[in-house]
Amino acid sequence: MKFISTVNKRNAVSGAEAIVRGIAPDGGLYVPETFPRISAADLASMLDMDYPERAAFIIGKFLPELKSLGEMTEKAYARFDGDPAPVLQIDDGYYYLELWHGPTHAFKDIALTLLPYLLSASKKAVGDDSETVVLVATSGDTGKAALEGFKDVDGTGVTVFYPSDGVSPMQKLQMMTQEGGNVHVAAIRGNFDDAQTAVKAAFTDKTLIDALQKSGKAFSSANSINFGRLVPQIVYYFSAYLDILDAGRVQEGGKVNFVVPTGNFGNILAGYYAMRMGLPVGKLICASNRNNVLTEFFREGQYDARREFFKTQSPSMDILVSSNLERLLFEIAGRDDGLTAKRMAELKGNGAYTITDSERAALNELFWAGYADEDATAAAIADVFDEYEYVVDPHTAVAAAVYEQYKEETGDETPTVIVSTASPFKFPKSVLTALGERVPDDDFKAVYRLEDVSAMPAPESIVALERMEKRFADIIDKQDIGDYVRTLYGKKD
Ligand SMILES: *Cc1c(COP(=O)(O)O)cnc(C)c1O
Repeated sequence: MKFISTVNKRNAVSGAEAIVRGIAPDGGLYVPETFPRISAADLASMLDMDYPERAAFIIGKFLPELKSLGEMTEKAYARFDGDPAPVLQIDDGYYYLELWHGPTHAFKDIALTLLPYLLSASKKAVGDDSETVVLVATSGDTGKAALEGFKDVDGTGVTVFYPSDGVSPMQKLQMMTQEGGNVHVAAIRGNFDDAQTAVKAAFTDKTLIDALQKSGKAFSSANSINFGRLVPQIVYYFSAYLDILDAGRVQEGGKVNFVVPTGNFGNILAGYYAMRMGLPVGKLICASNRNNVLTEFFREGQYDARREFFKTQSPSMDILVSSNLERLLFEIAGRDDGLTAKRMAELKGNGAYTITDSERAALNELFWAGYADEDATAAAIADVFDEYEYVVDPHTAVAAAVYEQYKEETGDETPTVIVSTASPFKFPKSVLTALGERVPDDDFKAVYRLEDVSAMPAPESIVALERMEKRFADIIDKQDIGDYVRTLYGKKD
C-alpha cells in the first residue's frame, strides 16, 4: 500500500517510509492511497481475537511490509492493566469505551506504546539503521506517554521538553520521576509555544543533525500527525463494535455512534477511517470544549482560528488549529490536493478558510458537532455520577454533555459509545469540584478523597508518584535546547 501527501498526490511513499518521515517533505500529511476494506467475514473472524490480535489484523491492512506485527502489539498492550480498550455498558444502548488503562492513564498510550515498535520496524524496512532520537514538546499528556512508550526500547532515546509553568503539578511529577535508561526530561522557561518552537528549530538545525549523524543517530517525531500514531487508534473503533456485537446488543451490520472528545482531531479521524474501511458507524459526534472552533466548522463550514484561546479543565482539548483535520479536508474535497494545499495556505496566512455548502452537507451526513463550556462540563461530571455512580474525567465529560445535546436535538436512539480518554484520577481537583465535594489543596490528598467519593481505586502509578525520586530537575532557556540535545546524543570525543 502506498501513502500520498494531502498537498501533492504524486508524492507517494510506502507506509514504512511515511512513518519514518512523519510529515511529507512538501509539508502535507500522509494518507493511505486507498482504504482497505474490512468485510463482514473479516469482522466475523475478528470476533474471536483478543485486542493485540485485532490490532495486528487491522494495522497489517495498512502496513503489510512490517513483519511480526502480532509480536509488537502483544508486547505493547501487555503494558496495559487488562484489556486495553474495555467497553462498559452503563445503560441501554449507552456505553463508555475506556482507553485509559495504560501506563499514563490517557488514551495516547494506545498509540504511543506501539509507536516505538512500528518506528523501529519501519526503519528496518526502509534500510535505515540509525538509532532513533525522539524529541517531544508537550503540554502534558503526550510527553509522559512518549516517555513510557519509548522507555528502554533498544535503539531509541527520548527527550521531552515541557513548559516550566504550563503543565499541571501531577503531570510535572509524572515526568520528573520518569524511569528508564534512555529517557531525559527538561523544563523550558516559557510557555508551550516556546517549547514547541524550540523543538521544531532543533529538528531542522543542520549542525545538530550532522552531530547526531556522526554518532549514528537521527531525529524522529512522535507527534500526532505521524501515521504511526493514527493507525493504532483505528483498532479500538472496530474492537468496541465487535464487543457490542459479541454481547448481542447490536445486530450484524447494525450501526453504532461514537462520541469523541476532540482536540487535534486524531482520535475522531481514526473513527472516520474505520468507517471508510466498512465499520457500520452511524454518526461520529465531535465534542469540543469552550475552544469550539470545530463545532463552528461543522455547522457553518468555516474554520476560523482567529479567536481567543481559553484554558479549560480539559487541557488536552485546548487547541485552535486541529492538525489532523487536514486529512478529513482532503477526503471531503474529493481528494483534491491542490484545493487542500490552498486551504492550508489560507489557514496559515489568514487563520481561516471556508468549505463549500455541498461539502458541508456531505460532512454532516457523517458527523455531528457540539461543545460544552466549563459549567456544562462540570454539570456532566455530576449528572453521570448521580445517575450511574460512574465518575468520568473532564475530557470525557465534554463528550457526555455533547451526547445529551445530540439526543435532545435529533432523537436518535442508535446505540452510542462515548470514547473515554482519561482516568478521572489525573484531574482529581476538577472532578471533586464538579461533584460538589470539599477539595484538598494537596493533589495526593485530592486523589485519596476521590477514591472515597467514587469508590474506585486510583491507578497505582499515580499514587506511587508521591514517593518516587525526582530524577529530572533541569530548567533551561529555549535557545539552549540545541546544546542540551547535542550533549545528550552527539558524538563523545
Ligand atoms: C489528546 C487528548 C484528547 C484529544 O484527542 P485528539 O486526538 O487530539 O483529538 C482528548 N482527551 C485526552 C485526555 C487527551 O489526552
